[in-house]
This record gives sequence, C-alpha cells and structure tokens, in this order.
Amino acid sequence: MKNIRNYGIETQCVHAGLKETTEGAVVTPIYQTSTFKFKDADHGARLFKGEEDGYIYTRMRNPTVEAMEDAVAILEGGAKALGCATGMAAVHTLFMATLKAGDHIICSESCYGATATLLANVMPNFGITTTFVDTSDINSVKKAIQPNTKMIYAETPGNPTLIISDLQELSNVAKSIGAKFAVDNTFMSPVLQRPFEYGADYIIHSMTKYLNGHADVVAGIIILKDEVEYPHFRKILNHLGGTIDPFNSFLVHRGLKTLKLRVLQQQENAKKVAEYLNNHPKIEWVRYPGLPSHPQYDIAQKQMKGPGSMIAFELKGGIEAGKILMNNIEIFGLAVSLGGVESLIQHPASMTHAGMSQEARLQAKITDGLVRISVGIENVNDLINALDKALSLV
Ligand SMILES: *Cc1c(COP(=O)(O)O)cnc(C)c1O
Repeated sequence: MKNIRNYGIETQCVHAGLKETTEGAVVTPIYQTSTFKFKDADHGARLFKGEEDGYIYTRMRNPTVEAMEDAVAILEGGAKALGCATGMAAVHTLFMATLKAGDHIICSESCYGATATLLANVMPNFGITTTFVDTSDINSVKKAIQPNTKMIYAETPGNPTLIISDLQELSNVAKSIGAKFAVDNTFMSPVLQRPFEYGADYIIHSMTKYLNGHADVVAGIIILKDEVEYPHFRKILNHLGGTIDPFNSFLVHRGLKTLKLRVLQQQENAKKVAEYLNNHPKIEWVRYPGLPSHPQYDIAQKQMKGPGSMIAFELKGGIEAGKILMNNIEIFGLAVSLGGVESLIQHPASMTHAGMSQEARLQAKITDGLVRISVGIENVNDLINALDKALSLV
C-alpha cells in the first residue's frame, strides 16, 4: 500500500508490509523454503554482487520475513527492521553490531534477566563492560559515564519493577557524549510508546510478547532509525545467524493486525484490576504506571500513551502468602512471559527466583511478596473475582 506511513496506526497494523503477489494473496504467503533458484549463472552472479535485487538464501533474506519486518518498522516509525529468532537474539545482535572491545554500556538496573546476564557475564569476555544504574535517576546515569561509554540501553517500564525512565533525558545525555541510545520497548509496544520520537537510535522488542500476542511464538526484532546502518546490521545478523524463520514471521505478522485492539483491551482490563488490587487490605502496594502512586507517574503521563497491562504488587505475608495465591488462583496461568491474550501471574520469590538467596533477591528488588501479572483480554469481572477468591484464602 502506497503512503502507508501517512495512515493511522490501526490501518498500519492491518496493511503494513503486505507483499503483492501475482495471485493477489491478501496476506503474504509463507515462503517455507531455505533457498531460491537462480535463473542462470549470470543471475546468481548479479545477485551476489548486489547488482540485482532478489532472494538467495533464507538466512539472508526471505519474503515472509521481510513483510513482517517492513510492518514492524512502519509501526515503530523506523527506517528498517531486522527479524530475529528471539528477543535475546535481537539484544545480542544489537550489541555485536554497535560495540567493540573496550566499549562501555550504561544499562537500566531494572531490566530483563537474560539481558542483565548477557551484559554482566558474557560481554566482558569480549572486552565490553556495563554499569547498571537506576536509569529513572538521570544523575546516576551521568555519574556512570566513562570516556569509553558508547551506548545507553534503557528498558522502560523496566522488568519486573515497572520503574520508568525518561526517554528524552536519556537520549539527551547519550547525544551529549556521542553515544547511541537503545530502548527495549517490549512492555509498551508501538501502540503505547514511540521511542524514536524521543531520540532513540535503536528499538528492540521481544515479539514473543505483545507484538505476536498469542503466546505461540518466540521472536525478536531490531528497528533502526537510520537506513544508512541497515546493510551493516543485516551483515552482522546474517553472520551471527539468529534470524527468524518464515513460519514464525507469518504468525507475528498475523498477530500485528490486532495489536492495537489487544493492547487497548488488555490495558482497559489492567486499569480495573490495578484499582481493585490497590484497595485490597492484604496488599502492601501496587505498582502500575496508571496509578498516581507510581513513583514516575509524571514521566509516564509525558511519554506513554497509556499505562499498559503489566502490574506489580507486594502481598502482605511474604513467600507463604504468595504461594497460597499462586496455588488457588483460577483463570490466570502460572507462567513466565507476558503480553498474550491470556492473563498470567508470577510470584518470583517462590517460582522463578526461588534458587536465589533472599539477600540476592532483595538486592535485585525482588521482595518476598512481589507478584507480577500480565493482564489479558478475558472478562475483567472474571479476572477480579478470580483474584478476590484466591486472596480471601491468603
Ligand atoms: C521476554 C523479554 C526479552 C527476551 O525476549 P525472548 O523473546 O524471550 O528472547 C527481552 N526484554 C524484555 C523486556 C522481555 O520481556
């Protein structure tokens, strides 16, 4: 569709990226093929020399993958996008494409666990070091600057604390020192937050979450603001090999069509669930960007189009109370991950972080009664009743 970038996001969700076929397919077909035949030797030579546009091998380029990449690039308002096998493949590829030995990163201390582990335990082996700071406090960020700081990497709202960092301020700091600014926009999706409008250079997503939205795919993506960097990123991704496959691209592209509907309905439900939890006597505090009690409520109002559908709260009564809630809750699935149409609930202290000492957990701001929920599109009264029933047993 011509001029798709000028249309509203609802139109972009439905139409962006479609590859026109001679058969007139309404959605881009799954090109489930590893490789593409050359017409003759000269054709192969021209493709490899880059003299002619065409497909060679699916790790390098595939029409179904490209259709989905174009759609996500348009939705984020970026120039180009690179589909990856998982969100972590996107994070890793971003670092490999932009940094070299001797470089330093400043990263949000409240960020996805595997991102933190990659930066803290793997990248130092390649001479790349990271300082983790509370990126919601711009003075901490400034204090962490080193002569070799080449990237500020922010996750906002951060996982699992939902701490919010000011995108414009971080981008200003990055620019002032000639560093790149990258944002993990997984929790918001382009429906609720547009980091390029606040000066980001790169956006990454775990498409496993809201973009696909149906909990049946793991996938990731890097979106570039500047087209000039695309050939370099494509080459690095091609050589690292963490590309997405055609079938998962097809599923993500299908999920995108209902992205705005899902995200807004999940958010409507989450607002009501957060309000219910906020008034519950067995709950110490609720952290949700839509509640004025959120420590960065003002920043949320400024840079987010809505509070989203992730809620964190602290249950009175610690680990035991958390277990009772987990073992008695209906509808909500006890599972990691988020952003799908189904509601999920997670109690880190008794589940995902049970292997850590309490001291180490507290250091990571994982308190004993911390519960995280991802609100889905079910009937909101059913969700509140399920919480009410389980909380009454705590
Ligand atoms: C899930 C997630 C990731 C990692 O994505 P995978 O698809 O699981 O590899 C990165 N960042 C955030 C914020 C996430 O929620």
